[in-house]
Amino acid sequence: MEKYLEVAIDAVRQASNICSTVQAQLVAEDSLTKKDRSPVTVADFASQAVICHRLHQAFPEIPIVAEEDADSLRSDENHELLQKIKSFLPEWPDEEILQRIDLGNGESCELFWTLDPIDGTKGFLRKDQYAVALALIKNGEPVLGVLGCPNLPFDSTDTGGTLMYAVQGQGSFAMPLNGDDPIQVHVSSNEPDGTVRFLESVEAGHSNHSLQGQIMGHFGEKAQSVRYDSQVKYAVLARGMADVYLRLPNPSQPDYREKIWDHAAGYAIVKEAGGRVTDMFGKPLEFTHGKKLTANRGVVATNGKLHETIIALLNGKS
Ligand code: AMP
Ligand code: MG
Repeated sequence: MEKYLEVAIDAVRQASNICSTVQAQLVAEDSLTKKDRSPVTVADFASQAVICHRLHQAFPEIPIVAEEDADSLRSDENHELLQKIKSFLPEWPDEEILQRIDLGNGESCELFWTLDPIDGTKGFLRKDQYAVALALIKNGEPVLGVLGCPNLPFDSTDTGGTLMYAVQGQGSFAMPLNGDDPIQVHVSSNEPDGTVRFLESVEAGHSNHSLQGQIMGHFGEKAQSVRYDSQVKYAVLARGMADVYLRLPNPSQPDYREKIWDHAAGYAIVKEAGGRVTDMFGKPLEFTHGKKLTANRGVVATNGKLHETIIALLNGKS
């Protein structure tokens, strides 16, 4: 696991720094809209190219299942976007950039990487939170997770972002994005009868803010809510800075299923910090059905102590 971790941290760090640079200079032409109407930017593509290249060099036999592909960049109308990506990867010819992005078209199997090169692209475009999320999945279990969170301060004096990582059985750790000296992190110990700090998406379409509000209502004035884009929510939960992450399905998209790359890294990090992650029925997340969590609905992640209470409330048993 040491070798996997070293390469994964290095790759996520390099990609996170490219994303920070792109975000600082972002202009409207730097993004396009995908078929599912979600945005993708110069930084998503550059981040995926860098990480896939590093992983493929080190572990050519391990497939990578990543969010993006290079199809749209092969069309003439997106030539300028490709040139912009190239300005961040000046050493690489166009065709190599495309091929390296497409290294992420792998199939899930017994041992594979899953990558979201920018999780929370909408947050990235708003210049808010986003994460570079990489996980290694072995026999259906995320056994290693790395989250680069360039806009999440490591501490009160830091402005350079946070890197979180976890390896199964070895704990969960945080460090400055470009620093060293990791510190081990743990979820909070808040119980259902105290203050409960909830995490939710910023984007209304990604969950059910109304039902989430009802669950919080159960805790009255003891409930607090904070909204972040991306798997930064898992990072905040793992550091004990919040107690519950609710991602209940958007009722207007009943067929939506969560993507594995939106959860695998955060899942590993919260579990190793002592927390619990299930779907809204309390069922374990199943990372064995390809790109989507088809056997699950929504996601509930907690510090562990609050899990049963939240699942009971959601299922009308409390
Ligand atoms: P967040 O920033 O936590 O709201 O999550 C961002 C992720 O939400 C993106 O990476 C998308 O894959 C995902 N997403 C898009 N549509 C939905 C939806 N209807 N329900 C849940 N997640 C979604
Ligand atoms: Mg995502």
